[in-house]
Amino acid sequence: MENTKNLEKENKILKRENARLQQDLSMLSNLNDYASRLRKFNEERVVAANKAKSNFLANMSHEIRTPMNAIIGMDEMILRESNDPSISKFALDIRSASKTLLSIINDILDLSKIESGKMEIIPIEYDSASVFYDVINMTKRKAEGKGLAFEVNVHNDTPVRLLGDEIRIRQVMLNIINNAIKYTEKGSVKVNISYDREQEILLVSVSDTGIGIKPEDIDKLYNLFQRLEETKNRNIEGTGLGLNITKQLVEMMGGHIFVQSTYGKGSTFNVEIPQKMINSSPIGDFSRRLNETLNKKEEYKPALVAPNARILIVDDNEMNLEVISGLLADTRMKLTTASCGSECINLLKENTYDVILLDQMMPMMSGVETLLTIRKCHLADNTPVIALTADAIVGARESYIKEGFSDYLSKPVMYDDLESVLLKYVDDSLLLTPEQIEEEDSAEDKPKILVVCSSGDKLSEMKDLLGKRYKGVFVKNEEQAQKYLANHTVEFIIRDGGSK
Ligand code: ADP
Repeated sequence: MENTKNLEKENKILKRENARLQQDLSMLSNLNDYASRLRKFNEERVVAANKAKSNFLANMSHEIRTPMNAIIGMDEMILRESNDPSISKFALDIRSASKTLLSIINDILDLSKIESGKMEIIPIEYDSASVFYDVINMTKRKAEGKGLAFEVNVHNDTPVRLLGDEIRIRQVMLNIINNAIKYTEKGSVKVNISYDREQEILLVSVSDTGIGIKPEDIDKLYNLFQRLEETKNRNIEGTGLGLNITKQLVEMMGGHIFVQSTYGKGSTFNVEIPQKMINSSPIGDFSRRLNETLNKKEEYKPALVAPNARILIVDDNEMNLEVISGLLADTRMKLTTASCGSECINLLKENTYDVILLDQMMPMMSGVETLLTIRKCHLADNTPVIALTADAIVGARESYIKEGFSDYLSKPVMYDDLESVLLKYVDDSLLLTPEQIEEEDSAEDKPKILVVCSSGDKLSEMKDLLGKRYKGVFVKNEEQAQKYLANHTVEFIIRDGGSK
């Protein structure tokens, strides 16, 4: 009896305990639920904040490019119009600072795209030689301008055609070559390109005899905004974004980047990126062809002077119209401007043009919509239409061509790019030959100066400094100078800074 009572009591206690445990368990599960909801909420907040940050950066970079168009364009005009060397020097400084600012904006855009997951690797088939040529062409002058020896070695059996994201390959190569030039005061920069046919991997290595990197700093190289030895390298421009972007791009393409360096002696950056072989024919003696083409290009680039060419420029921004018209003033072409799509269409109903430069972001009717109407109404069937856009997105060219544009120019529009595009699309018969230009020019009575200088950068600086007051004749070496002097007379000769 006693036992039964005890058992009942214990049972009651156990039941109570069980009920309390159940209560605790349910409380725990509620808490757990609450914690996971909180975690999810926080994760969503982080994603949303990141997205907002990336969108803000992308919008801001885009917005900055528009006024930059005016700054760079107007500055170019000051360079052309000013006869005062000290004003020209200030304008040259603005030009160089603007270029730096633009490259920072482009880096920020890229970063925000990578962070928001919008950066895509788009493989296309490409000619390896044309990519290598462009990259070398864009860096060689800079290295030589600094007095560095610049060596390029592309292995003969590198395949002529590859599959990969050509644009990102260029970007990666440009970044490590530009860094090598930037962080080297004297000596050389060597670019070595080869291809592993068995594993289908493109190998690029860039060696310099520059400042080198301390072993303990190697791991920090790819950190965002990390610049090594900042106080020592204060006078070298940079943001610490380039290598971080480069590493992320290389890894997105399935490759990797590694560096060997001796502090005070120099560094070698190696990049290995899988790129499928599309045409296995070997590239052959690329270096010889490269030198031939580089030399030829610099000597024979025709000047864009075409008094009978008619160009229509369409942009809703008054200042942009002024900038492009100003940039093209020396080409003596007939320029017409329109400030919206419908004005452009009305003009096309009455007139014909040789090239149309058409802005993208216009209120009422965008550039694409305007082009669609032009094509639908057969207003300018055979006229090349070039898209003008503040999109800094590399790869935009292909998408504009898909929309029906002949080509694409990114704002801020640089004169060299504008000139190249127009040279491509204005009919050759409209271009004046050098003799015809000389004939027109000689009507003007200006002192003639022959400038002999091997550095392309210095030559263009001299061109800007001479301005409109003098007629400058620019050659890269003594041989070209003598050739010119055999048939012409000049008032002055300036050689590499010294004059005679
Ligand atoms: P930055 O804009 O500062 O050049 P990067 O991200 O391209 O940014 O490079 C990060 C840092 O790595 C640089 O600030 C520099 O200290 C170091 N670095 C990059 N390339 C080299 C090189 N070739 N030689 C020595 N140091 C280099």
